[in-house]
Amino acid sequence: RNEAVFGRKDDTRSRAAFEEAKRFIPGGVNSPVRAFKSVGLTPAYMERGEGPIVYDIDGNKYIDYIGSWGPLILGHAHPEVVEAIKRVAEKGTSFGAPTLIETEMAKLVCERVPSCDIVRMVNSGTEATMSALRLARGYTGRSKILKFEGSYHGHADSLLIKAGSGVATLGLPDSPGVPETVAAHTITVPYNDLESVELAFEKFGEQIACIIVEPIAGNMGVVPPLPGFLQGLRDVTTQYGSLLIFDEVMTGFRVHYNCAQGLYDITPDLTCLGKVIGGGLPVGAYGGRRDIMERMAPAGPIYQAGTLSGNPLAMTAGYTTLSLLTPETYELLERLSVRLQAGFEDNARELGIPVTINRVGSMVCPFFSETHVINFDTAQLSDLGRFRAYFGSMLQLGVSIAPSQYEGMFVSAAHTPELIDRTIEANREALRRL
Ligand code: PLP
Repeated sequence: RNEAVFGRKDDTRSRAAFEEAKRFIPGGVNSPVRAFKSVGLTPAYMERGEGPIVYDIDGNKYIDYIGSWGPLILGHAHPEVVEAIKRVAEKGTSFGAPTLIETEMAKLVCERVPSCDIVRMVNSGTEATMSALRLARGYTGRSKILKFEGSYHGHADSLLIKAGSGVATLGLPDSPGVPETVAAHTITVPYNDLESVELAFEKFGEQIACIIVEPIAGNMGVVPPLPGFLQGLRDVTTQYGSLLIFDEVMTGFRVHYNCAQGLYDITPDLTCLGKVIGGGLPVGAYGGRRDIMERMAPAGPIYQAGTLSGNPLAMTAGYTTLSLLTPETYELLERLSVRLQAGFEDNARELGIPVTINRVGSMVCPFFSETHVINFDTAQLSDLGRFRAYFGSMLQLGVSIAPSQYEGMFVSAAHTPELIDRTIEANREALRRL
């Protein structure tokens, strides 16, 4: 595909493909944000990815900062990951019986994730958080949970309350289909607001099974924890005998060799993982303290299972990816991401456009806002009209970012300084066009 050019020059085939898809798939897509509804465009249908570049079916190519919404920290179709998948696929994709790679994978995760003595594999981030909630409720014998406004933890009933990501992007209220009796058990408070958390615990503390938190929020745009916030959550849950669950589906192996909990040196009781640990295949996991995790069947009475959980194909993709990630990878990601942030900040300043950039490691999020973004309310002060125009220009200029102000950009280890600079140039032109 040497003839492919950067930027969306033609979308004839993607348009036709989307029309056809809408006849057979609700809204044409298998996950809502892919439809580009909030930016008023037709999605580009992807055909191929190689490292940091994706190619669509109309012969356009893009520098990719979606990375399949986070998993592809090594870029698309990393040769070693592809080779490992091929090798395993030839021997059978799933047995529904234990395989050695499952223990190897569990060992590796437990070595790297400080809170995990022991870990259970599932097939998605949603399954991980849903199962961790059930465990927290089963372990404590309590029903209420506390989550933060604008956080997204997958689409389980209890967690789809004041959620971020696609729910926020599409401006949807809490989803129909979630029974009120279920929603009543979910307490929501603003992110980074320890006082509200403490008030909720003063009122309901004895009934709260757990706090579930993204240690770096990534579904209201990127919002880092303020100093003391995570420690405060650790303290209040310990005080009231509730569990602290870190949802590291996005941050796990993304921001640090030892995940966000390693970066901030706070140890939760349970951790949910997904995205990067699957190396691009469907994997989730939840793990934590042995005495808590061993309440899960068959060691204990709390039930959770999965036909394809821990299948050799997914475990191999994940294991190979994690094995290729070293502390040096995170230094490289930091250098590339600092360069991107600095370039974007220079552009905005020189062109006089209000932009606030939040970044932790390779999670980078420019908000069209003058306000320091610390929670969902401040994220919502961003100029969505500007974002929409900016998104369209970036696509035309050959840069693929998530079609939402409430999502960050993911830099991968396959991005080069030259591609980062090209992205900065595109950003400058896109800002100029606003
Ligand atoms: N938790 C967080 C923090 C996420 O970002 C996501 C997905 O974006 C999920 C959970 C759900 O994961 P999945 O889409 O694999 O079900």
